[in-house]
Amino acid sequence: MTAPTSRPRIGLGIDLHRLAPGRACVLGGVAFESPVGPLGHSDGDAVLHAACDAVLGAAGLDDLGTLYSDKDPQNAGRDSQDFCRDVLRRIAERGLAVWSLDVVVETELPKLKPRRAEMRERIAGLFGLAPDRVNVKGKTGEQVDAVGRGEAVRATVVALLGDA
Ligand code: MG
Repeated sequence: MTAPTSRPRIGLGIDLHRLAPGRACVLGGVAFESPVGPLGHSDGDAVLHAACDAVLGAAGLDDLGTLYSDKDPQNAGRDSQDFCRDVLRRIAERGLAVWSLDVVVETELPKLKPRRAEMRERIAGLFGLAPDRVNVKGKTGEQVDAVGRGEAVRATVVALLGDA
């Protein structure tokens, strides 16, 4: 038996954003029609932020908040897909690739189910994956805590990385 040449790495990313009326609602790079959207210095896309943090964590790199500061005016209103492209570039420089992403999004609004497949495809495209290497699960907060009261959206992502 030959020695394995791939060294898998696992990373976890969690992000929460408050939801506010009248804010554009972009989650997983997909724009939703919604009465509320995530507040944030960038576009507030908690799903992509959690995905980036999971990938950065697996690669042993800095976290999203350190690399793309919310104090930097350059990041004001920024499309979080830019962060994903930059994260992908950073891991590629280290000879790493994303192998899979498992995504859980907890929110009362918007309803994710009708556009889950679209989110999956978008996230897969951003991280250089086939769609079947990404799973997106939508959950509600069961009327408990900030998510359950509709005050926030929370995303949790586990990333598996390995040699490119
Ligand atoms: Mg965030």
